[in-house]
Amino acid sequence: MALRQIREIGDEILLKPCREVKEVTPRVREIIDDMFETLYDADGVGLAAPQVGILKKIVIIDTGDDPHILINPKIIESSGEQTGNEGCLSVPGKYGVVTRPNYVKVAYYDEEMQQKELEGTELLARAICHELDHLDGKLYVDMVENGLHDVEEMEEAGEQAEETE
Ligand code: ZN
Repeated sequence: MALRQIREIGDEILLKPCREVKEVTPRVREIIDDMFETLYDADGVGLAAPQVGILKKIVIIDTGDDPHILINPKIIESSGEQTGNEGCLSVPGKYGVVTRPNYVKVAYYDEEMQQKELEGTELLARAICHELDHLDGKLYVDMVENGLHDVEEMEEAGEQAEETE
């Protein structure tokens, strides 16, 4: 396993659409392992492959319960609404308010290329939406209400810092 460099906003690769994974090769497994090491090192909730410079449809999410590996994920159901702070490991030191569905169901393939489904609400639903947007080359900064803010200012104001994806 190895830490990978997290690509930051301004890097063109974050704006490109990802390709589907056809087969989980040893190289794909290595990417996934490295993504987890990189995610935990950065203290994040989720990471998408393009954030480490790989244009493949791979997302990992760990909101503190179970780590999830989503290959070729697609949202097949969503409902409700949540409005809250969101951050991104590719946009360090910033956060903004984004409205997302409060519930999503995602179809994906696991590491054995078996088709699975995952349901999430609240933070997990937000993380799924945020990470899947990365696979389409979309960043949350284009969806924020009232602009981007500095995490430092929020901490000074005594608010809880939101987790970064
Ligand atoms: Zn992100």
